[in-house]
Amino acid sequence: MIKLRAHHLLCFLGFRGYGYNKGFVDNFMRVYQKVYINNQRVKIISSPDVICKNCPNKKTEGCLQEEKVKKKDQFLIEYLFGLNINGTISPKEAYQYLAKMSIEEFERLCSRCEWYSYGFCRQGFLNLKNGGDNKVGD
Ligand code: SF4
Repeated sequence: MIKLRAHHLLCFLGFRGYGYNKGFVDNFMRVYQKVYINNQRVKIISSPDVICKNCPNKKTEGCLQEEKVKKKDQFLIEYLFGLNINGTISPKEAYQYLAKMSIEEFERLCSRCEWYSYGFCRQGFLNLKNGGDNKVGD
C-alpha cells in the first residue's frame, strides 16, 4: 500500500504538471495517477513519503521544511481520522471529508507554501468544494 504524507492529498488538487524538476514531476505524476486518478487506497503518514523521495528538499535527515509540513500533516490526520494515527483511506473518501473544510482552514494550511501564489491550489480546492474536476494527464 502506498504511504502518503497527509498534506500531499491537498497538493494533488493543485497539480498542473509543474514541480521542482523533471524527476520530481515524473514521479509525482506516477503517484498522482495511482492515488488521485485511480483511487488507490493509501496509508496516511506525517513523514517523508513516495513523493518526497524525488524532491530536492529531501535530505538524508528529512525534509528541509519538515517542521512546517509536519504541522499540516498532523492537522489533516486528526481531521480525517481523529485519534486513529494508523489510518488507511481511499482517496475518494478522504476528499469527501476534505471538501467540507472551510476555505479559511485551507488557506491557513497552505497559503505560506511557495506554490500557493500560482493560484492552482486555491482553484483546485474550490473545484473540490464545488464538485468539480482537477485531473491532469489522463
Ligand atoms: S518539500 Fe518536503 S514534504 Fe514536500 S515533497 Fe519535498 S520533501 Fe516532501
